[in-house]
Amino acid sequence: MSAAKILLITGVSSGFGRALAQEALAAGHRVVGTVRGEQARDEFEALAPGNAVARMLDVTDFDAIDGVVADIEEKVGPVDVLVNNAGYGHEGILEESPLADMRRQFDVNVFGAVAMMKAVLPYMRGRRKGHILNITSMGGHITLPGISYYCGSKFALEGISETVGKEVKPLGISVTAVAPGSFRTDWAGRSMVRSPRSIPDYDGLFDPIREARQQKSGRQLGDPAKAARAMLEVIAHDSPPAHLLLGSDAIDLVRQKLSSLAQEIDQWEALTRSTDG
Ligand code: NAP
Repeated sequence: MSAAKILLITGVSSGFGRALAQEALAAGHRVVGTVRGEQARDEFEALAPGNAVARMLDVTDFDAIDGVVADIEEKVGPVDVLVNNAGYGHEGILEESPLADMRRQFDVNVFGAVAMMKAVLPYMRGRRKGHILNITSMGGHITLPGISYYCGSKFALEGISETVGKEVKPLGISVTAVAPGSFRTDWAGRSMVRSPRSIPDYDGLFDPIREARQQKSGRQLGDPAKAARAMLEVIAHDSPPAHLLLGSDAIDLVRQKLSSLAQEIDQWEALTRSTDG
């Protein structure tokens, strides 16, 4: 095993956060996991009494974040790895989905993750060491109709992650954006926020997409335990990547996107270049 570390993972009640916590604990690391309820807290701490430490935190409680991180640094120890995992998917046609739903999506998936980074970075900088994993999504590279707010939030987190990675690399800190494909978590089940349908013009396009996602929930290709082991491998690496895709669906779809983007850029190159001078 690599040297024991302290991981701070947001959202350990289910899915990737829970799986990563379990694999990290099994590998001998200590895990501080954030939860939003007493039952989740008790269940998490029971995984490995003493080594699984829960902290109550909603990542949109921005004023609380610095205090929670300071308390962890003081009472548990130095955070070696922050995993910004807490997040959820909003599903809905853009025109049908209230702006408030978009704000909430960005508050959790983007602003929450940024606030967490801002809280741990002073400590990591002081030690000239640390690793931040931001769980984005293949939806941070590719898009499909009906999840514009979600893709927007994950594209934002990909961009922020890559940028901050360049800012902190000279200070000994790594940042990796981890973009999973479809995995068997609660993402498309209890956690998903679905805006109601209201505009029949979108029925033909969107109804089959919504239905297919509901059907597939729980039967996705990806195994969260395997994703967790892959993340541990990246955490142990001397020079971790800025971006890591997880799952064969993710790599196939992102490759297709990159090649069609390259084709489109080529096709419009003359017009693109015509604006210089
Ligand atoms: P999940 O099983 O629904 O887990 C989501 C976790 O995030 C839960 O622990 C949840 O806590 C927590 N959470 C949600 N909102 C929060 C908030 N405001 N403050 C604190 N914690 C919050 O789904 P998951 O798939 O593991 O999701 C983890 C991450 O992976 C998300 O960022 C998601 O977008 C991303 N992702 C998932 C997939 C996939 O196919 N599953 C693919 C790509 C990316 P509660 O129990 O309190 O709700």
